[in-house]
Amino acid sequence: MIMQISKNKVVSIGFKLTDGDGSLIDESSTEEPLKYIQGVGSFIPAVESALEGKEEGAELKVTVTPEEGFGQRDEELVHSVPKDRFQSGGDLQVGMQVQGQDDSGTPAIFTVVALEDDTVKLDGNHPLAGMTLNFDVKVGEIRDATQEEIDHGHVHGPGGHQH
Ligand code: ZN
Repeated sequence: MIMQISKNKVVSIGFKLTDGDGSLIDESSTEEPLKYIQGVGSFIPAVESALEGKEEGAELKVTVTPEEGFGQRDEELVHSVPKDRFQSGGDLQVGMQVQGQDDSGTPAIFTVVALEDDTVKLDGNHPLAGMTLNFDVKVGEIRDATQEEIDHGHVHGPGGHQH
């Protein structure tokens, strides 16, 4: 029986992700695919809907607008903070991601965008915010998710839950 992508299937995909200018952002081969569970909200919804009903071997291109992807950039999420607030102040590098808290105290990930003399400029936007995302997708293996995977909302390896 040929499997098709539908809710609660574990889907393996190889993909190439480029931005609106054609620059490569990320890629994954079908030998070392990205795996996700269809229909549980763990992947980009616009890509999941484009993949719905596809079979192993299918190839498709999906364009995701910023609104469908990670939203528009919000310049208010860019902050400069004193370097001495970081325990590892000397090890900070541009491009590094650090965990902190947003204005309401919720844990959030920030990207270090600039290092100044006594301050660090942090960007709380998702790294892909504001970008048009072009996915070139090739569908690999499709299988039923186990009940445990559905309960956890993520894919398990051969040895079960390992994270
Ligand atoms: Zn798990």
